[in-house]
Amino acid sequence: MKIAILCIGDEILKGSTINTNLAHMGKSLMKAGIIPRFSLEVPDEPSAILDALKLALEHADFVITSGGLGPTADDMTKETIARHFGYRLEEDSVSMANIHRFWKMRHGQQREIPSRVLNQALVPAGAEILENRNGTAPGLILNVPDSNAKVIMLPGPPGELEPMFDESVLPMLLEEVKTATYTAIYRIAGIGESEVEDRMLSVISRYHPLQVAYCASPGMVRLFLTSSDTSVLADAAVDVKQIFGNALFHEKSESLAADTVRLLKREHATFATAESCTGGLVAKEITDVSGASDVFLGGVVAYANEVKQNLLGVKAETLEEYGAVSEETAEEMVRGLAAKFGCDAAVSLTGIAGPGGGSLEKPVGLVYAGIYWRGKVTVHELHLRRSRSQIRERAAASALYLLREMILNDGSEKA
Ligand code: ATP
Ligand code: MG
Repeated sequence: MKIAILCIGDEILKGSTINTNLAHMGKSLMKAGIIPRFSLEVPDEPSAILDALKLALEHADFVITSGGLGPTADDMTKETIARHFGYRLEEDSVSMANIHRFWKMRHGQQREIPSRVLNQALVPAGAEILENRNGTAPGLILNVPDSNAKVIMLPGPPGELEPMFDESVLPMLLEEVKTATYTAIYRIAGIGESEVEDRMLSVISRYHPLQVAYCASPGMVRLFLTSSDTSVLADAAVDVKQIFGNALFHEKSESLAADTVRLLKREHATFATAESCTGGLVAKEITDVSGASDVFLGGVVAYANEVKQNLLGVKAETLEEYGAVSEETAEEMVRGLAAKFGCDAAVSLTGIAGPGGGSLEKPVGLVYAGIYWRGKVTVHELHLRRSRSQIRERAAASALYLLREMILNDGSEKA
């Protein structure tokens, strides 16, 4: 089965809307072992929609479109594609009832429904209709005349497309899958992309058919293994686990923060943060994880020296002698925090995120991370590069990674 995706909308090409619909469909399809052939982003313009549709149908037997099913003048997907295949539009009573229900819910009885809104109940004759539980424009599945191909049209708003895709489209595609490919995703912390690649060479040469892809982001590298043979993936998994050991996240952890929360939960440990240059980023990332409240107590954004002194107990002499960005300050921050919060785990960060404020002795990107784990403290000097936001992101990721290491090493010492 070959799938092509067309994301329709001027706003995507102008950069004002990020194409999360593609990301969602790609992610859901991949879990099901399907990788689309390609995706095209096209403006709300009949000729561009048709050019893309023709190209897609040359390479795929399922073309999925997103966007342009709504009531406004710039929504032309349905009309354009129906006309191209010679389908006339007719009213669908279920969609009409849904539109009335939605309108009443949003506007009450007072306002009459404009005809352009009612037009959303017009569907190409013979099309299969996908109910929209979260909006008014139904999804549509059209047979391409004189072929086995189908065009699946989905509404643009992610809150409508995502459930419709997962609940109606994906099951249908799975039925159709004949030669599926399967993908396993591994997430790895603390090892750079090129080293991950080097370490994978032996796996790549040992197993066939196997495609390997890498994707780096702050705090982790994602490793994708794809094969049409599930036993190849199962065998390769054993190698991957051996090669990367503790650097591998638990399969359910989608981020470094999620894996840290999982680990803290496993250890029945509480956690707190003391952040200067990251301004609360570690706390934000931890609280992005659902269930963080089981482990996370809170944090102090200790930007000014007075806050480092008054809330964390950093000594005035330490700040004077070594400066706010120093190993000594990072250590006193994390010790003071752990004492105050009575937590099992804590991290502190102090550094120079730039672009100003650096010196020869303490350049932009110099960051100290203090890590506390059940009475033990380590302090790490980091040299990070690039923009202010990247330095902050990397500093936050490093703190979590270093804490994760400390907990795991402690566990292995005990074992
Ligand atoms: P509506 O009934 O809201 O008009 P529609 O099916 O006509 O729905 P569009 O008008 O193309 O869809 O898009 C509606 C909104 O959905 C856009 O303003 C945009 O915020 C969002 N959207 C559209 N396409 C995408 C996409 N590929 N990724 C993420 N969001 C999208
Ligand atoms: Mg629209």
